[in-house]
Amino acid sequence: MMSATVHMNSAFQQCINLDCRATYDVGQVLTSCPGCGSLLDVSYDWNRIAVPSSLGAFRDRWSSRRNPLDFSGVWRFRELLRFARDDQFVTIGEGQTLLQQNDRLATLCRMKPGTLFLQYEGLNPSGSFKDNGMAAASTHARMVGAAITACASTGNTSASLAIYAGVTGYFRCLVFVGSGRIAYGKLSQALDYGARTIQIRGDFDDALARVRQICEKHPIYLCNSVNPFRLEGQKTIMYRVLEALDGDVPDWIIVPGGNLGNCSAFGKAFLELAQLGLVDRIPRLAVINAAGAGTFDQLVNRDSLSWNDGRPQTDIIGDYYAELDRRGARATTLASAIEINQPVNLTKALRALSVCNGVVRAVSDQEILDARALIGANGFGCEPASAASIAGLRLLRNTGVIAETDRVVCILTGHQLKDPDLTVAYHSGDADLHAKKLRPAGVLSTAFANPPVVVDNDESAILEAVDLPAIMR
Ligand SMILES: *Cc1c(COP(=O)(O)O)cnc(C)c1O
Ligand SMILES: [Zn+2]
Repeated sequence: MMSATVHMNSAFQQCINLDCRATYDVGQVLTSCPGCGSLLDVSYDWNRIAVPSSLGAFRDRWSSRRNPLDFSGVWRFRELLRFARDDQFVTIGEGQTLLQQNDRLATLCRMKPGTLFLQYEGLNPSGSFKDNGMAAASTHARMVGAAITACASTGNTSASLAIYAGVTGYFRCLVFVGSGRIAYGKLSQALDYGARTIQIRGDFDDALARVRQICEKHPIYLCNSVNPFRLEGQKTIMYRVLEALDGDVPDWIIVPGGNLGNCSAFGKAFLELAQLGLVDRIPRLAVINAAGAGTFDQLVNRDSLSWNDGRPQTDIIGDYYAELDRRGARATTLASAIEINQPVNLTKALRALSVCNGVVRAVSDQEILDARALIGANGFGCEPASAASIAGLRLLRNTGVIAETDRVVCILTGHQLKDPDLTVAYHSGDADLHAKKLRPAGVLSTAFANPPVVVDNDESAILEAVDLPAIMR
């Protein structure tokens, strides 16, 4: 049943549960539907928004890029996320990312040249795709006059929120991280940008539960991806992919899945683009879990959970979580950005699968680290979680789900330098490092390692080690 609420704005918040569909003003701060507890979307009355008739109109804004909103890779598309006024948008120059056609990596993934593209979101100001979402969440925080913002994080969300708080000065920020599991590149950012950083003795799932509890009781604005405004910013990753492909919709989008915000945002982006007639078809979506944090894979492929026309079988989800609790199971993967067992955007991600005829797969840490090394040697490089996309492509090729001529876009979600410890551990032949960092995660081989050569400080020994003929081979 449609709610009869009339909104002053062309945008409103709306419950995704088809049995509820309650609507709320964009001025309200909510992370779930007060009526039924489901997730909320930001929805639009498209009749009241002057949306350009083709995606090319957004690209044309490049000529006016001295205007910060036209420069931003998020706000350049502002008519497609028009929940605020121009003078309210927050930008620090996010979204200057690029799509790299990569034929060398294509060949290694058994794809035809010209079919594989890497969307490198590591080029964002804080080094991950999270900035796309944080530009939008910061805008909403500013709209509602938030003085303090907060998030729980496996690292990148905190780095992103901290940079927006630090650069703009619109609000203070508080970040909650689990102890021990956060990569140093990311922790160093939160500390450096001046975020008040709370290291909880627990993991990410614990930290998120706590920050939600605290934000509910105190006037603190929550920036995790249960915040529907954040996902609006993340839609623009897909707009930029389409822009780079000159509007030619690819066959597949492959993205790592952690809290499942990104894949949910991609599904919403394509649903809306199709409704607006801005695309002629919708790509298929592949969401890739790490096997040690494989809730989505298990629920969809083993337990047959689905969107079910807007009525997902919530009892299946409840049973799964109860089982995790009973076993005291914890997410464990070296891909720390996706080390999450209770993904908050699960139901939205089911909708994305339905919109995009999507699939879910899980890959091992061995597959992730091998794929990461291949990307590093042939592309822009990325952090471990990002490489789940290429590991997923290899799996989907080997099982014949993706054809060698399909056009595939893999999202590289975070920068290579986020987690240098693991990169060095993989490449070095140091047995101690392997025993400490890799073995416990089941990574037994480092087939694509490029180990440093240790040599005495002696000219002929060095020349022998350099081995010019070998380099040229
Ligand atoms: C946050 C993050 C992910 C997971 O994205 P979700 O939206 O939580 O599924 C993947 N890779 C990197 C680098 C991230 O920072
Ligand atoms: Zn509801």
